[in-house]
Amino acid sequence: MDKYLEGPIPDDVKMTPWLDQYKKFKEQYPDALLLFRMGDFYEMFFDDARAAASVLDITLTARDGGKKIPMAGVPHHALNLYLGRLIKAGYRAAICEQVGDVPAKGIVERRVVRVVTPGTYVPEEGGEGDVLESAHLAAVLPLRDGRVAAALLSVDTGRLEAGTLPEREAAALLSAFTPGEVLHPSNVPEKNLPDFLKDFTLRPAAPEAFKAENAARRLSSALGGARLEGFGIDGEDPCVGPAWAVLDYLSATQFSSVRHVLRIAPLGVRDRMSLDAAAQRNLEIIPETASGGVSLLSCLDRCRTPMGRRTLREWLLRPLMDVTAIGRRQTAIGLLLDAPSEAARLQDLLAGTRDVERALSRLALGAGGPRDLASIRDTLRLIPDLAALSPSFAEPLAGLFSSFPDLAPLCSYLNDALEENPPRALGMGPVVRSSFNEELASWRDVSLKGESWLEEYVERERAASATPRLKAGFNRAFGYYLEIGRTGLTVTPPHFEPRQTLVNSQRYVTPELREFQDKMTRSEGEVARIEAELYQDVVERTLQDGAGLQMTGRLLGVLDCLASGASIARERGYVRPVVDKSMGLAIKGGRHPVLEATLTDAPFVPNDVTLGEAPEGDARVIILTGPNMAGKSTWLRMTALLSIMAQAGLWVPAESAALGLVDRVFTRIGARDDLVRGNSTFMVEMLETANILNNITDRSLVILDEVGRGTAAWDGMSIAWAVLEYLQASSRARVLFATHCHELTCLEERLAGVRNCSMAVAEGPEGIAFLHQVVSGPADRSYGIEVARLAGLPASVLRRAFELLELFEKEGFERSSIPAPLPQKALRRQLLLFSPETDAVVEELSELDLDNMTPMRALEVLHKLKEKSLRAREAGG
Ligand code: ATP
Repeated sequence: MDKYLEGPIPDDVKMTPWLDQYKKFKEQYPDALLLFRMGDFYEMFFDDARAAASVLDITLTARDGGKKIPMAGVPHHALNLYLGRLIKAGYRAAICEQVGDVPAKGIVERRVVRVVTPGTYVPEEGGEGDVLESAHLAAVLPLRDGRVAAALLSVDTGRLEAGTLPEREAAALLSAFTPGEVLHPSNVPEKNLPDFLKDFTLRPAAPEAFKAENAARRLSSALGGARLEGFGIDGEDPCVGPAWAVLDYLSATQFSSVRHVLRIAPLGVRDRMSLDAAAQRNLEIIPETASGGVSLLSCLDRCRTPMGRRTLREWLLRPLMDVTAIGRRQTAIGLLLDAPSEAARLQDLLAGTRDVERALSRLALGAGGPRDLASIRDTLRLIPDLAALSPSFAEPLAGLFSSFPDLAPLCSYLNDALEENPPRALGMGPVVRSSFNEELASWRDVSLKGESWLEEYVERERAASATPRLKAGFNRAFGYYLEIGRTGLTVTPPHFEPRQTLVNSQRYVTPELREFQDKMTRSEGEVARIEAELYQDVVERTLQDGAGLQMTGRLLGVLDCLASGASIARERGYVRPVVDKSMGLAIKGGRHPVLEATLTDAPFVPNDVTLGEAPEGDARVIILTGPNMAGKSTWLRMTALLSIMAQAGLWVPAESAALGLVDRVFTRIGARDDLVRGNSTFMVEMLETANILNNITDRSLVILDEVGRGTAAWDGMSIAWAVLEYLQASSRARVLFATHCHELTCLEERLAGVRNCSMAVAEGPEGIAFLHQVVSGPADRSYGIEVARLAGLPASVLRRAFELLELFEKEGFERSSIPAPLPQKALRRQLLLFSPETDAVVEELSELDLDNMTPMRALEVLHKLKEKSLRAREAGG
């Protein structure tokens, strides 16, 4: 949901020149917060101020008499911090700067210099506003044939992909991409857009941008004139429209040409495992969809750089379908595992690198600063050390280390040009080294010499006026001055012109000081001018190596991701899975990667899974029964997660694993409603099931954790039965089906390839204990009431449930034969049967050895027990 702010200016507000100016900009940017620069602050007014005050937790004040104009402001130096928060809260912000000097009369000129939006904001790495995951922008064009033309632009890395896809595939890709904004042609109203887009912040854009004919030409020229076919994109493909629309929007909001998007890639789905939005959510792959915050990604992330983290995220959300490519990643991890000290060295070096992709994007969009240049330089300095690791490894790792493009010339240029620790922005301290430019050096020298001249001059005046406490000072309003305490000077020298009178002192200027002031002002102005020009040169020079820097960033990301995979595999004892084109799945001693890493009370119990054409059986569909809490969902999810990890090229938590390629993971797990779209819990369950049955392929892996639970028992069972029959007959997909519906276990007898498994349970005097172990065969019963006891349901409810269960199991459900519940008094008496005292009686009874007891002794014991139980009844009232 977007937050639109109209910021109306009430009629009774007296218009002033600045307010006229404000109004003009606000009318141009009605759907953005207008951050209006006034001196050292960015001020917001009216509705914008109210919204900002509440999101940013800043004070809402008022401007002008009568307190008519609500106002909230943020200091200019903290802009990034506040921008990050506003964008995270879903707002757009138009930054309106003062341009030129403040005139003696009238108001200063202002201009909107960029519009910051959730899909385009790239904060400085580690800077104050760095609160967003990444800047992702998407555009979609729904087509008449039901497909969707889509483009995805990672603004922070410059990666652009586009394709025309079936709706469900577009939905899956968008969900994995997590765009901050999704553009759509404004002539397609929101209500006519595909339903899946309701999950995103939508932004209407000019329909012309989406027209393929115009777009292809513009896109090609934006990519340096190359033909789109060269990138694998047909110039007539409708996806060219959205691709141009994202670039157009980016350049319109940034007021800059987009120079870091250098190529476009086809948005491929065929070569990747497809994980739709439900699978991403149910399997909790990324933190955004993990209910407890611990996702597969966070549990596997040992990356040292943002580039590595981005890569790992992509690997997990878009696992590979190419066995050779998977093997290359697995081998690389193996090589790092075999060379722990080199792997540690690699991770140490990576820790010193910076986010070069993001720094480059910021510079290319004109939003960067000197520190982005320093990030690039610092990273390039480490590349020779990284490349030197190449001989330590065999292929394919050696090849990765030696593929860094040669950016040594850029590195030495930046070394020469840039100060070691430049400030965030120009004008906040030296950025360019004096040694880099003679003119800059000579003007800086003037400033430096000026300082010593000033010291000498003050010394001279002190001596001449016999005023030892005379000192020099500087302020913005008056420039340089001489200051004397009120009691310090008896006779004012004639060339001292009074400038300012303070409570305890008097300030003066002199002709010499004025001359000095002019010289200093000029030299500062010259230093600032030359430095700004040189800075632009340095940025330009850096952008020329944009492609090389992007490649460097991608390589660093891959190496980081591999090193992270090796580090986790070593620490947690993961193994290299066999991934092939078979239709089987055989996991021995598999562990759920997230649960294993987070369980603290007890160790994780490993389990096997054998499915499909695995060596040990041909079960394609497993029906899993067992009590609640026994570990069914965990086993199902573990199987899916291990397949994903294996195809991501990672090693897996198991004793061994052999996995035939999976093209889609489908999940139907848990109960959840979707009230935004008007869907009840059961409707969501059925929609998810329908999606699976309609899109299943022979290579799919299907995880069904209960189907038909959200409706009446017989309806639910009938649906589940029919779904299982369909899954078994319509494809060769591998299916795990967990259920509490025991009747379904008889399908093993009726359908080929269907097998029963269950969660083992130990029953003892204390009740049941979960062993978390999967065994062959169906569960003997459901244990639901025992689990209810563990959860603390009142004893009377449990007893009644047991009573009814026995009855239903014996006689079926016959309304007339159900006895009424016991009256309260009898109930209380019955309750006593379960009091600690009566427990003791029962225990004694059960321990009696009747075979070796004389009748006399038996009578004696009986007497004692009766006394005990009477005492218990009295105690219970
Ligand atoms: P329900 O039918 O109520 O959904 P379930 O059978 O699906 O329950 P899970 O949710 O998988 O049960 O597991 C319940 C809890 O049991 C987990 O949160 C975890 O703490 C523990 N558990 C599950 N499997 C294992 C295991 N293999 N080893 C150790 N603990 C486990």
